[in-house]
Amino acid sequence: MKIIKTLLVIFIVSFISIFLTCGKQQTAFEATNIIMGTIVSQRIYGDNSNAAATEATEKIRSLEGRLSFFKPESEISRLNSSAGRTKIKLSPDTFFILSKSIEYSHLSGGMFNIMVGPLVKRWKVTGDNPVIPSPSEVRSLVALINYRDLILNKNELTARLSKKGQKVDLGGIAKGFAADEVLKIYRKHGIKSAIIDIGGNVSVLGYKPDGSPWAIGIQDPSKKRGNYICSIMLNNKSLSTSGAYERFFEKDGKVYHHIIDPTTGYPSKSDLQSVTIIGESSVDTDALSTATFILGLEKGLSLIKKTECEAVFITVDNKIHATEKLKNMIDCDASIEFHSKKK
Ligand code: AMP
Ligand code: MG
Repeated sequence: MKIIKTLLVIFIVSFISIFLTCGKQQTAFEATNIIMGTIVSQRIYGDNSNAAATEATEKIRSLEGRLSFFKPESEISRLNSSAGRTKIKLSPDTFFILSKSIEYSHLSGGMFNIMVGPLVKRWKVTGDNPVIPSPSEVRSLVALINYRDLILNKNELTARLSKKGQKVDLGGIAKGFAADEVLKIYRKHGIKSAIIDIGGNVSVLGYKPDGSPWAIGIQDPSKKRGNYICSIMLNNKSLSTSGAYERFFEKDGKVYHHIIDPTTGYPSKSDLQSVTIIGESSVDTDALSTATFILGLEKGLSLIKKTECEAVFITVDNKIHATEKLKNMIDCDASIEFHSKKK
């Protein structure tokens, strides 16, 4: 009788704790902020979610303070204003992103190129008063783009730009790095289930509390924001999208978007409307989505084959192409042509 009573007590206690755990996990802590010039949204489940979100927000703000192209006191602005003169001491985060950027410049044949800074500044696509520079001005600014002129010293943690007027802009990679840092913070707080979205760089930790994967929507480039053309089921992965529709302006019936082809100095022209890259780390998916967007479908696919990442391409004629591994993870409104990554 005593054993039965003890078992009953154990059963009731276990039931209550499972009930409480499940009950707690169902409640999400959500936070939305504007940081790094974009919308940052977090959804975190479990204990410590509030503290994890607060620390994550602080980290993104601190990164913005160091990496911003616009804030005069940022490490990047100091590097840019010292171009052709002196080297600048950097924080380890900034140094790491610059090193990663150079790695992706090599891998993409110079298409991912943070040295596009002078052109980003001149076109002002993301600002209130964008400008179409004259062809000769574009040519003179293109002459400043050379990622080999960004000199890094790993022992000193310093960087230097060789020529006056050169500028780096981390708009194509910094948000991805920030998303990776946020997941580290979540893990440190013991979080098992969370999602962070920093302006299209989405990273998911674990599964949803009900044990199913996260469904991430891919924007339909020809429809209003929030209309998805595909959804991808993911757990413990990062996803970044680059698209002409994200930031652009129109003048005399022509559309000028924010991703610059470093060889021409003009917004890139390819057969793509958007590219989504899926991988283990957001710093990689962010850089690769920008690079493949410029490269176009065929060259972009060749680049992805050299990496561990998967990709979804939406062409200007509204066709969807994806790497084969995504077959069981993706669901789209239109048919998908799958491509093997084997060479
Ligand atoms: P994303 O939305 O990640 O594709 O990044 C686009 C942003 O990256 C732009 O708004 C610029 O700040 C910057 N950018 C533009 N062209 C390039 C390029 N060729 N390589 C690297 N970054 C770029
Ligand atoms: Mg990017």
